[in-house]
Parts: sequence; structure tokens; C-alpha cells
Amino acid sequence: MDDFNLLTAKWIPVLFNDGTTERLGITETFLQAGRIREIAASNPMDRVALIRFLLALLYWCKGNPADGSFAISDENENKTYFNLLGDGRRFMQDEDVWKEATIRAEEKAKHRDSPDDEKTKTPRDKGTFRPVGDLLQEFPVDSKVIHFRHVQNYKYGLCRACCAMGLVRFCAFASAYAQVFPAGLNGPTPAYAIPTGSTLQETLRLNWSGSGATIGLAGFCDGGKAAPAKDIGAVTAFTWQPRRIWLGELGDKPEACAYCGKPERIIRRIAFGPGWKSPFTGSGKEKKFWPGDPHLLLAGARKAKKPTRKSSQNKAPEKTNGQPIGFPPPNLRVGIHASFWRTAAKVAADNAKCGKSLQVMGPAANKALYQDSTAITVPAVTHDAAQRLGYLDNIRAALPGMLQKTTVNPQRRHPNRFAALDAFSASLESKLNAHGIQSPSEASANEFAKAVRRVVLATTGGSPLHRRQSLEDADRALQETMEKAKAQQP
Ligand SMILES: [Zn+2]
Repeated sequence: MDDFNLLTAKWIPVLFNDGTTERLGITETFLQAGRIREIAASNPMDRVALIRFLLALLYWCKGNPADGSFAISDENENKTYFNLLGDGRRFMQDEDVWKEATIRAEEKAKHRDSPDDEKTKTPRDKGTFRPVGDLLQEFPVDSKVIHFRHVQNYKYGLCRACCAMGLVRFCAFASAYAQVFPAGLNGPTPAYAIPTGSTLQETLRLNWSGSGATIGLAGFCDGGKAAPAKDIGAVTAFTWQPRRIWLGELGDKPEACAYCGKPERIIRRIAFGPGWKSPFTGSGKEKKFWPGDPHLLLAGARKAKKPTRKSSQNKAPEKTNGQPIGFPPPNLRVGIHASFWRTAAKVAADNAKCGKSLQVMGPAANKALYQDSTAITVPAVTHDAAQRLGYLDNIRAALPGMLQKTTVNPQRRHPNRFAALDAFSASLESKLNAHGIQSPSEASANEFAKAVRRVVLATTGGSPLHRRQSLEDADRALQETMEKAKAQQP
């Protein structure tokens, strides 16, 4: 059986500086990194997962950054860890899950007509056979009801390169479902912010730091065995295994891969079971995540408060770095989407990530269902941009209340004003983004004033005098809000 060794087999899609694209093996990707513009996977989730996977390999092979090259030999004793197929050890796979699935299938066949079917069921946390499409969340397997187009399970197949991508994607993203399948290390919908250079080599160098290099269990070595404890480093985190998987039989003849379309030998089924559970806990609404993750987008950081007399009896509140934030689901109001971009820009500025632009990538989900995945580029920000963005944020947050107060009946909610504000917020945010990050906020103030006037004019009925009064009130209220926000600046 062809073992499709991922060090040499062509599976990582890359875009070269000259605009051509190709799939490369791991060794070749590192060798060519200076000529590669970026990872060219069409789904942003794969771009994150592959960059984190390549970083894990750098830490695993070379430890902390050295002056040496990226070169990783494809002829060494660890080569077999990267066999996608074949007998024996396989890349990110656990043969036990295949055995469990076989037992379950046999039991099912034996007891198909028996009334005691329930009693013979193997536990839910054991492996089961599934169509190979489960490797890629956006793939329209026959049970994904919201897709327009469907495929019939087990009739189609995925090529080996796409299967490898699916295995690596689970390291960065997995949603929790059926109370047995755990979410990924950083919850179901983390957004990752990755400093990006002009070539893959530069991107890897920017992210390959000494801080996360604790060498721990690598997910590609021992996929599916017991979950590591809390003390993990980058290698373990970037190769996290929330699923136990074993790839099924490889077809003999080339057929079109249902995902990439290339004529290749394909795989139709996998064995699939729950894998590592997060060792981290969160109380109440707090999310579980690895606090050491260098890419995780965290928002809502709180400084440690001085203990008051009342709270000093209990434990003093600790400093928090915030909670992971993810992309809003596609059905939410445009205002929420627009403000997510600015939160991302603010977090990027807070972190002052080495003056490089950031790629923010991740999925948007409704409960366990991934509905979309997106990537945005946040431009390089200067050091004091975080402060300026904080100022703009305060004003933006005050707008709905302010607009409500300047109506004839301020006690009533005015949904038309909120709707108008939402409708204008996308263009407002993009203009603020340009002004807010690059220059002092005088120009941004004008954008706020313009937006407020547009909302008031679009939603105030009655006589022209009435509208004029409303505009004047709104102008004054905006002025007050801005002064207040300025006074709150540290
Ligand atoms: Zn394919």
C-alpha cells in the first residue's frame, strides 16, 4: 500500500511569489519558503492550521529559533510519523478507533432485528464509521441540512492530500457536539491573529519565538492517546487532537476528488471518534482555552482591581487577559460584524505585534454548526493606535443611546434609528479604520458627525423645523459624548 509520506508527497497548497500555485511536501515547503507568498488553501481555517502545524514542526525539530535554515531532512528515523497511509504508524491517526468502529458495525449487523438493540450498543465515545466528508466541515455530506447541494455518503471520496488537510485542520478547529465530541483546544470558534510577512519564510520567522517552545507530546506522533495535562507548549497545542481518526481504504483507480476536483486515488470512509478533551476549565460563561496561545484573539482584558474592604475578605480579583472572541455568525446584524473588525484591530494594536500586518482568520458558527469562515487583514498599527481606537470605541458604543435620547420620545426604543445606524455602520467602520489607525481622530470625528446626521435625517419625520431641531440636538449630544470619551482617556 502506498504510504503517501507527507514529508515528500505533494499536499500543501502554496502560492509562489510569481503567482503560480502548486502542492508541495513538508520538506519542499520549508526549502522553498522564501519563494512562497503564502499558503494557498481556499478555506482560511486551513491557512491557520497549516501555519501552526509548520511552526509545530520547527519547534519539534529545532527547538527555539536558531540562526540556521529551515531545512528539515526527509530521511531520518522519524519519517514514519508522516505516513498518511500504510500499515503500522500513521500521521495523526489511531488504529484503535478503526477497531472500535469495526466492532460497532458487527454488533449492529448482528442485532439489526433484535429488540435488545440498545443493550448491545457500544458506548457513544467509541469510534464509528463515517463518510470521509466529515473531515471538512464545509463539505455537503447528506446530513448537513442547510446546504443547497448534497452528496450521497460513501459514494464520493477525497484525495489523500485533502484528507491530510482535514486531519491538520482539526488541530486548530473542532466544534463540540453530542456531549461526547470535545471542541478544539481553544473552544469551537476561536479567531486566530497571525503576524504575516511578505513571504512564508518571513511569516514563519515572525511567529517562531522562544516563548512557546516547551517540547511536549506532538499530536502527529501519538494521535488519539490520552490528552496532555495543562502544562503544554506550542508543539502540543498546534497539533491538538480533538478527534481520533483512521483513514479507510484507498481506491485503486483515479477518480475526481469531491473537494479539490483533481483526478486522484480516493478514500471514501474513515473511522471517527472523540479525542483529547481540553485540560483547561472556565467558570460560568468563561470559555476554555490555552492561556499561552500566541495567536488567540482575546478581548475584554481586565486589570487586577485593588481589593475593596468588602472584597478583601474574599479573594482579590485576578488580572485577566480576556476571553477568546470569534467571528459573528453570518445572520447577525451588519453592525455586529462591523464592530468585530474594529475589536480585532484594537486587539492587534494592544498587542503591538512587531509592526506587521495581521491575518485574522477563523470560523463563524451557530452552536455546533460551522456556517462560514473568514479571513481579514488588519494593517500594521502604530504603538498608540490602541488608545485612539479605544477612544473611537467609546463613542461608537454611546451612539445608540445618544440617538435614542435625541428623539421626541426618548423613553421609547426607536428601532428605525438602530436599523439606520446598522445600515451605515459598515461604511462608517471602514472610514474610521482608515482615519483611526493612521492619524489623530479629528477626521474620525467628522465621520461620526456625518453618520449621525444621516441617521437622524433618514429617520425623523414631521416638519422641516422638527428635523432641524433633531439635527441640532444630535450634534450637541455627539459633541458631549466625544468630550466625555476624551476625559476618560488615560
Ligand atoms: Zn482533493
